[in-house]
Amino acid sequence: MRIAELLKANPVTFSFEFFPPKNESAVDLLLARAEQLAKLRPTFVSVTYGAGGTTRDRTRDVVVRLQDAVGLSTAAHLTCVGHSRAELIEILETYLQRGVTNIVALRGDAPNASTGFQPHPDGLTHANELVELIRERFGDKFGVAVAGYPEGHPETPNKITDLDNLKRKVDAGADVVVTQLFFDNHDFYDFCERCELAKIDVPVIAGIMPVQSRKGIMRMAGLCGSRIPAKLLRRLDRAGDNDDEVAKVGIDWATQQCRDLLEHHVRGIHFYTLNRSTTTMEIYRRLGASDSEALAHLAGA
Ligand code: FAD
Repeated sequence: MRIAELLKANPVTFSFEFFPPKNESAVDLLLARAEQLAKLRPTFVSVTYGAGGTTRDRTRDVVVRLQDAVGLSTAAHLTCVGHSRAELIEILETYLQRGVTNIVALRGDAPNASTGFQPHPDGLTHANELVELIRERFGDKFGVAVAGYPEGHPETPNKITDLDNLKRKVDAGADVVVTQLFFDNHDFYDFCERCELAKIDVPVIAGIMPVQSRKGIMRMAGLCGSRIPAKLLRRLDRAGDNDDEVAKVGIDWATQQCRDLLEHHVRGIHFYTLNRSTTTMEIYRRLGASDSEALAHLAGA
């Protein structure tokens, strides 16, 4: 089902993001975890698109297997990095042939962070151009999600310009905005209000990443420019080098964020699962929900 239809059918959506594993045995493990997570009945799952060639084919393979073997609604991430327009069209055509009808349309980042993003000579410079390409070439055959940044994209000179650029993506035909991870819900609520003022009138889905390791979160926060609130930092400091304690802090924090988002009638929550199943399952358990339908009830849906 396309994202627009999924949004219509579900007043609150719950989605899980995976990344394509590097080798076949890790793909099997991911599929086993996805089977577990499927019991939570997510609205859809998505698979990221890496900068290297091999993970790109794996994105397609994993998406197709999640759809055909696990029976989940899927969205394939696609970036402009290193691709000509013709290649992007070819990838999109392959997805359609395989029955994958949702794309998370992104610019992507340079494989080497120090060089900054360089478009392919026959390629696209920004994600709004990818959304345009999809709509021009394929009409409504795809559902399209785009990225939003509650704290501003790291390259943006200011949040006003960033929001203008988000509006370009929505005006080009995106159905939904999925946000970058954030740890302070106030940043998300403020972002939603600013979207409303800018007449960005598609649903905004909140991106939640439970902290699973101290090193991992510092790296991610550095890459994404996400602020780690002092309260969370203090709790992580108390957990020290004990990975289990850090993971507990992460689950506590993310559960609290989700509870608050649901009480504020969020339109959807997108879990950055980091290919694990237990963390997301534990958050559902703590929220007293056996699956996504039960979780939606907490938002009054
Ligand atoms: P854009 O929307 O093109 O924005 C990039 C920068 O350019 C911003 O500063 C923006 O303000 C500015 N800008 C946008 N449009 C214009 C314009 N027309 N003119 C001038 N300036 C403009 N990365 C991956 O490599 N693979 C993934 O699978 C992946 N999945 C992601 C999923 C989500 C939900 C999110 C939030 C991010 C994801 N990323 C992924 C990271 C993303 O690729 C990076 O954040 C990247 O730097 C920007 O991508 P974008 O699509 O937001 O780009």
